[in-house]
Amino acid sequence: MKSVGIIGGGLAGLTAAVSLSERGYKVKLFHLNGSNSERIQAGISLPITSGDSLHLHAMDTMRVGLYINDEDAVWATLSKSTEAYDFLKRIGVRFELVELEAGHSRPRVFSIRNETGLHVMNALREKVEELGVEMLERMAIGLIIEEGKCYGIIDEKGESHFFNHTIIASGGYTGLYKRTAGYPGNTGMILGDYIGKGGIASNLEFVQFHPTGYITSKGKIMLISEAVRGSGAKLVNEEGERFVNELAPRDVVSLAVYRQEREGHSVFLDARNINDFEARFPSIYSYLTNDGIDPLKDLIPITPIAHYSIGGAMVDVYYSTNIKGLYAIGEAADSGFHGANRLASNSSLECIVSGLEVARTLSRKEGVDLSNARPESLKTISSSSFIERVREVMWDSVGLERDSKELINALNFFRNKELPQQIRGLGLGISSCAMLRQESRGAHFRRDYPYIDERYRHRSLYKDGICYIDPFSYYVKAQE
Ligand SMILES: Cc1cc2nc3c(=O)[nH]c(=O)nc-3n(C[C@H](O)[C@H](O)[C@H](O)COP(=O)(O)OP(=O)(O)OC[C@H]3O[C@@H](n4cnc5c(N)ncnc54)[C@H](O)[C@@H]3O)c2cc1C
Repeated sequence: MKSVGIIGGGLAGLTAAVSLSERGYKVKLFHLNGSNSERIQAGISLPITSGDSLHLHAMDTMRVGLYINDEDAVWATLSKSTEAYDFLKRIGVRFELVELEAGHSRPRVFSIRNETGLHVMNALREKVEELGVEMLERMAIGLIIEEGKCYGIIDEKGESHFFNHTIIASGGYTGLYKRTAGYPGNTGMILGDYIGKGGIASNLEFVQFHPTGYITSKGKIMLISEAVRGSGAKLVNEEGERFVNELAPRDVVSLAVYRQEREGHSVFLDARNINDFEARFPSIYSYLTNDGIDPLKDLIPITPIAHYSIGGAMVDVYYSTNIKGLYAIGEAADSGFHGANRLASNSSLECIVSGLEVARTLSRKEGVDLSNARPESLKTISSSSFIERVREVMWDSVGLERDSKELINALNFFRNKELPQQIRGLGLGISSCAMLRQESRGAHFRRDYPYIDERYRHRSLYKDGICYIDPFSYYVKAQE
C-alpha cells in the first residue's frame, strides 16, 4: 500500500485525505490546532444554479484576476464544480442559501448561516475519522527533498516521516501579517522550506486584503463577510459620505478604505437596513453585540486586514509541483486560477476541487522509491522569538500599498541570516516579486507605479532566490 503524508487539516487537506483513503492509500495528516477553513463565512462559489453558467463564472474570475489567470486552471477548476457539490452532499453538507458576493455577476455563493466553514469542516472531520485517517497534531517544519525528489516530512521534534507521496495543504501565509482574521499559525513555513530546496513558487506578491475587518475592544481581529455588503450594507466615513461601490472587487474596496484612513477619516459599515441581520449573520451579530455594537442601530467601525495568499507553490492543473513526489493544494498552491486577485468564495471551491483532483493524480503516479530515503535534520523553530517583528515588517513594507523604498527595507530585513531559513526564503520571495512588479494590478498595489503596465501581464515565478516576470528580460535577485 502506497503511503501519503499531508501537511494541513483544512478544507483542502481533509478533502484529499478522504479521497485518498477511499482509494486505499495509507494517509497520515499533520496539522496544528486551527485553520482558515473553519473561519469561512459566506461560502463556496458554484456556477450551478439556473441562469448561471461556467462562462459567466470564468469571465468574473478573470475580470477580477486582471487577466493574468491561467485559463486552463480557470476552466479546469470551474468545470469540476458539480463534482465538488456532489462530494459535499455525499459527506452530509446541506446548503441553505445562495448569496451574491462582490465581483460575481450572479448569486452563486452556497452558504450555511454565514458560518459555512464550520459546517463543512465538521462533516469532513467526521468522514476522516470514519475512514481511520491518522491525524497528528504536530508542526511540520520542513520537507525531505534530495535531488529533486521529496521523500517526506520533518516534524517539530526533528523526526523524519517517509512517504511515497507528500502533499502540502498548509494554507497561505497571511499569518505573516500583523492584522488578519485568519489563523495566525499559517506562516507559510513549509512553502518557505520548499522554496529553499528548489521548489518553484508563483504570484507570491499578490496578497489579498479584505476591506471589512473589525477589531474588538479586546484587540481580537474578526471579519465581516462580503455577503453583508451583498445584502445591502454601505461603506461610509464619519461624515456619512459613501466613497466606493461596495460591490466592486476586494482590491478596489480595500484600497478605497485604506485611502480614506490615510486621509484621516474613520470608516464604517452601515448595515442598519438589513432587518434580518441576526438570522442571516448569526456569528457576526453575536460578536458585534457582545462587543457593544448593535448592527441594527450602530455604525460598525471597520479596517482592512490581510486575508488571502494568492501566491503559493506553483502547480499544474493536476496539482503537481516541480519536485517529484510532491504536490500542493488549496491556499498553499498557485495553479494560476485566481490571477492577480481572488474572486470571493472561489478559494473554498479550489480547496475541494484540488483535494479531489490530487487523489486522481496520485493514482496515476508511482511516487518516490523509499529505499533511497535518508532522515534529514532541520533546526526546530520557536516562532515566538521573531514572528512579531516579521509581522510588523510585512504589514509596514509589503502591505496593501507598497513602494520601492519600503520593499528595499523588507528585502534587507529578510536577508538577515539569523531568521529561520523557511521564513527568510518566503519573505525574500514575496518582497522581491513585489519589487519586480513595477505596476499596480489586482491585489498588488505600488504607490510608485499606480497603473497597470501590460509588459507585466504575466504570472511571476520565484526560483532559487530569483523572481522572474517576463522570464526573458527582467529579474530581481533576492539574495546577495
Ligand atoms: C475569516 C475568513 C473568512 C473567509 N471566508 C471565505 C469564504 O466565505 N469563502 C471562501 O472561499 N474563502 C473564504 N476564506 C478563505 C478560505 O478560508 C481559505 O482560502 C481556505 O480555507 C484555505 O483552506 P486550506 O485547506 O488551503 O488551508 P487552511 O484552512 O488554512 O488549513 C491549513 C492547515 O494547515 C495546518 N498547518 C499550517 N502550517 C502547518 C505546519 N507547519 N505544520 C502542520 N500543519 C500546519 C493548519 O493547522 C491547518 O490545519 C476566508 C478566510 C478567512 C480568514
